[in-house]
Amino acid sequence: MVARDSTTPQAGSIPVTVLKGVGKKMAERLDRLGVSTVRDLLFYLPVRYQNRARLVALGALRPGMMVSVQGEVLHTEVKFGRRRMLLSTISDGTGQLVLRFFHFGAAQKSALARGVQVRCFGEVRAGANFLEMIHPEYHLLQPGEVLAEEQHLTPLYRVGEGVHQLTLRSLMAQALGYLRDGVLNDLLPGTIRRRFGLPPLTEALASVHRPPADTPLDLLDGFRHPAQRRLVFEELLAHHLSLRKLRTALRQHPAPLLKSDGRLAGQFLEQLPFPITAAQRRVWKEIRQDLQSPSPMQRLVQGDVGSGKTIVAVLAALQAVEAGFQAAVMAPTELLAGQHVTNFRRWLAPMGVEVAWLSGQLKAAEKKAMQHALSSGQAHLVVGTHALFQEQVIFSQLGLVIVDEQHRFGVHQRLALREKGRSQGGYPHQLIMTATPIPRTLAMTAYADLDVSVIDELPPGRAPVSTVALPDSRRDEVIERVGAACRAGRQAYWVCTLIEESEVLAAQAAGESAALLSEKLPDLAIGLVHGRMKPQERAPVMDAFKRGEIDLLVATTVIEVGVDVPNASLMIIENPERLGLAQLHQLRGRVGRGSRESSCVLMYHGALSEAAHQRLAVLRESGDGFLIAQKDLQLRGPGDVLGTRQTGLLQFRIADLQRDQDLLPDIAKAASLLLEQYPRQVMPLVERWIGERSQYGGV
Ligand code: ADP
Ligand code: MG
Repeated sequence: MVARDSTTPQAGSIPVTVLKGVGKKMAERLDRLGVSTVRDLLFYLPVRYQNRARLVALGALRPGMMVSVQGEVLHTEVKFGRRRMLLSTISDGTGQLVLRFFHFGAAQKSALARGVQVRCFGEVRAGANFLEMIHPEYHLLQPGEVLAEEQHLTPLYRVGEGVHQLTLRSLMAQALGYLRDGVLNDLLPGTIRRRFGLPPLTEALASVHRPPADTPLDLLDGFRHPAQRRLVFEELLAHHLSLRKLRTALRQHPAPLLKSDGRLAGQFLEQLPFPITAAQRRVWKEIRQDLQSPSPMQRLVQGDVGSGKTIVAVLAALQAVEAGFQAAVMAPTELLAGQHVTNFRRWLAPMGVEVAWLSGQLKAAEKKAMQHALSSGQAHLVVGTHALFQEQVIFSQLGLVIVDEQHRFGVHQRLALREKGRSQGGYPHQLIMTATPIPRTLAMTAYADLDVSVIDELPPGRAPVSTVALPDSRRDEVIERVGAACRAGRQAYWVCTLIEESEVLAAQAAGESAALLSEKLPDLAIGLVHGRMKPQERAPVMDAFKRGEIDLLVATTVIEVGVDVPNASLMIIENPERLGLAQLHQLRGRVGRGSRESSCVLMYHGALSEAAHQRLAVLRESGDGFLIAQKDLQLRGPGDVLGTRQTGLLQFRIADLQRDQDLLPDIAKAASLLLEQYPRQVMPLVERWIGERSQYGGV
């Protein structure tokens, strides 16, 4: 082994083209697998392993087995049928096997001469007379030769176009040679490795690519082998550190001191028809403290659907306003933004607080007026969709950014909005609200750059939503039930879902349902909203529904987030099997907001798969968003739960948040240790695993 010193090149800067067999073309193909350096290759881990060391006697073979066998060639011949082929029969004394090749050369034929010992690996198939293997991997044995397969399990890598298993194995053999030369530093100090029981990096990599033949396969296949866990650990640690760094860097910047004596908040609370819950009060207090400190708040508020996050947002905004600053509220849909504007104006206009609305759909003149109101400081609060950071918006004094229902936005949008408010080297405070609660351990990794507050209490008097699942063959019955409920003074939603997020198709489906329902329930007032309608077309319908003039609202999932009509107490969801649990829970959260008994009918189509049954059962049995999120996570994995748009943050090479969850508490501890005791290791670790991707935010 070559001693490591500062002149040893590091694997991250050695291109794959140094390897034998990698030209320009192969380099491009490897690049598509995310492999462009020797380091990438070393971190390209096997997805499975095979034990080829164990030989199976030919007499014990059965069709379908993937096995290693060894035998002596009895005879080899070229056959001319419809296709030319090479047939070689081998025997080990217990039975015979035919090796069949369609592509072969003359050299291959003569090498498989009578009496030669051959070792093969492949799938056993039933042939006409004998069992056979088609194009097995094989190796001719020299007398006394010991094969690599006998010492190691054989790794299987994810292959790519033009990058075959054997290519990868041969490249890996070369890469492991570099590894032995010391091209990868162990970035985890010995004390940390020992504390968490992690093997050294070089050892770990060598054993994942070449596990000794006696390594238990199930350990490897479940990714529980210490060598694999060591690599997962390092990757998760790098991600965690990059977010922590982001957060520390942000804290270095000044933020406006939003001091107030709570006069506006007090006025607002006084005119509310209900007292706020203890949980709302606690979270408000946490936010107040952040806002009065000189570094930018980065706080995530998690609260189940209906827990009253809007009130908390308003309280935070009022603190900014009272301190002489502006607040911006970003909502994921125009519908929700519109609803916020209506509520905020109703609550705040009497207090002299001016609320602006920035919608992508405003007329040019209106937009100009709004922009002027914001840049002049005449407007104190602005509500909008992502148009808020896309359009030419200039704030006079932005002190606080609130992102509502953040799971609908990506990390990048959140950070972009924060950049937008940057002024004189300082950043506005940021409050992020979500109804998609994620388990704490996962939050530590996904949101390691944020502080977290939880509104863990619903306002009193909420009756749980009773939920049933019915097949849509009982549609008529369901329609009858909706009719009866509406005639008794209740209001209902009828939600149409689609697999693809195509609002065109969803709008069409909703239109058809509305027509059918109008025909069957002619005495009801039926409204329709979908994402293809302009906000000014949608608003009157929503308002009429809110005032109780519409009995039944047919809608697409545009109403999923935030829509708040407390008198609505019945919801029918068509094709619930198409949505994730968290999304269904959000939708269902539109009912059960008043004190009235509410119900939800999940009207599924056709026969449900076992998995779909399980998922719907979770919703029937629970109304607790945290529990539902946990189940959703188990059933679908974190990529889906956190929203695909966020995966920019959560793209791992090796780790899997679901599979490796149990490591997360240790990751947080190791990160703190490293930051305290080995701060110089932090950057190289982040660079190794995340590289340029860590730069978003630009702080
Ligand atoms: P979410 O957390 O889902 O955004 P909202 O803020 O929309 O919830 O609140 C849901 C409903 O509960 C609204 O009608 C709101 O006015 C009402 N609400 C909020 N806080 C309370 C409270 N403390 N007591 C009673 N009702 C409340
Ligand atoms: Mg809300």
